[in-house]
Amino acid sequence: MRLLLSKRTIALRLIGLAALALFFGWLFNLATEFLLLLCVGIIGWHYKHLFLLDKWLWRDRKLSPPAGDGSWQQVFDGIYYRQRKSRKKNKELRALVRRFRDGAEALPDAIVVLSNDWTIVWCNKLAQQLAGLRWPMDERQRIDNLIRNPEFQQFLQLQQFDTALELVSPLTEDVTLEYRMLQYGEKQHLLIIRDITQLKQLEQIRKDFVANVSHELRTPLTVLQGYLEMMDASSMPPEPVWQKAHGVMLDQTKRMDALVQQLLTLSRIEAAAKVHFDEVVDVPAMLALLEQEAHSLNRDKQHQLVFRIDPDLKVTGITEELRSAFSNLITNAIKYTPDGGSIEVVWQREHQKALFRVTDNGEGIAAHHVKRLTERFYRVDEARTRATGGTGLGLAIVKHVLSRHHSRLMIFSEPKHGSSFSFALPPELVLPVATTKSNRKSSA
Ligand code: ADP
Repeated sequence: MRLLLSKRTIALRLIGLAALALFFGWLFNLATEFLLLLCVGIIGWHYKHLFLLDKWLWRDRKLSPPAGDGSWQQVFDGIYYRQRKSRKKNKELRALVRRFRDGAEALPDAIVVLSNDWTIVWCNKLAQQLAGLRWPMDERQRIDNLIRNPEFQQFLQLQQFDTALELVSPLTEDVTLEYRMLQYGEKQHLLIIRDITQLKQLEQIRKDFVANVSHELRTPLTVLQGYLEMMDASSMPPEPVWQKAHGVMLDQTKRMDALVQQLLTLSRIEAAAKVHFDEVVDVPAMLALLEQEAHSLNRDKQHQLVFRIDPDLKVTGITEELRSAFSNLITNAIKYTPDGGSIEVVWQREHQKALFRVTDNGEGIAAHHVKRLTERFYRVDEARTRATGGTGLGLAIVKHVLSRHHSRLMIFSEPKHGSSFSFALPPELVLPVATTKSNRKSSA
């Protein structure tokens, strides 16, 4: 309850008190003394309450007001009421700021709130990680004093914020950051910093991929075009030249076909949905077929081929994808091992996993090539692999297939001694022996 002390009330009270003092003064014939006593009393009473007010405001830690008399109680209550109101407002404001900050922290980008003179008002944790800002130490610091890059300073000066600025991170050279500035309110700015390293890498991979595919397809096409121009309808080349041209054209067409096939396989695997491991893959039967194909591929090379296959080791996965992985590794060993080599293919249970390994005693691969072998179009010896009809996509496909089957390709190679390509499918994909044995009996 708030009561207003009006001028009229004050005047009436003073007049009343003075009249009372004058009445007693007249009774005892001491009017001046009584008036003086009244003044001292009033001043004393006010000082007492001033003291209580001062103690409450500056020394007491209590929220509730002291007990006062008369109109002072109203003053105390009024102050108490205002204090409570402003406390409530402050609390609401603090909650609002906290909610804004929590929201800004949850964003996947770094956020820096800047005032109109480019000083930092606030930044989230990501801004500290990406741009190396320190909070709260950098509060009120100019942002261009902390991101010391001439391009960034020009970005602020020109204020052409409709395009984003891309810069190398001030913390590490391998990271590229994108700076975007948004203006809001009274010349306030919001700086948004985003890590675009992966995006840039993907863009580069896409550019390389298009360039590589174009290059790979152009080579055989140029050969075909050359021969076709040589033999127009009016002048066919002599028989031996035609024989050679025919062979080369056939080889080049096969290469182009293989390349397109592998590109399609790769894009099919990439576009495919997540693997559902409910398809049983009869790997021993699949490897028996691949063994026959390997023997016919081996006719010219005359390697000694040994297949050690566990007949009861079946897995779950995607048949076509696993076939492509097995086949690529076996074919590579045959292709890249010099004639008369020895190649061993193993499919066996190891520590509850299913291990596949192809070992050859070919020329091996130097360590600096090994780590790049699964990159698309990467070849150790361009000339030699082209001659074998290689596209440089085989191991990229194997890598993809294996990652979809929760595994990865292991390559051990020693130059002049040979190579071993292997992978292990995890226990959750391996079928228990009992299941595979009973399946075998029932199918027999
Ligand atoms: P390609 O289609 O050219 O065979 P891959 O991706 O299958 O492409 O292989 C990449 C490169 O790895 C090959 O060009 C070859 O140089 C090398 N390579 C693969 N397997 C072997 C192996 N068993 N021995 C030696 N080099 C190999």
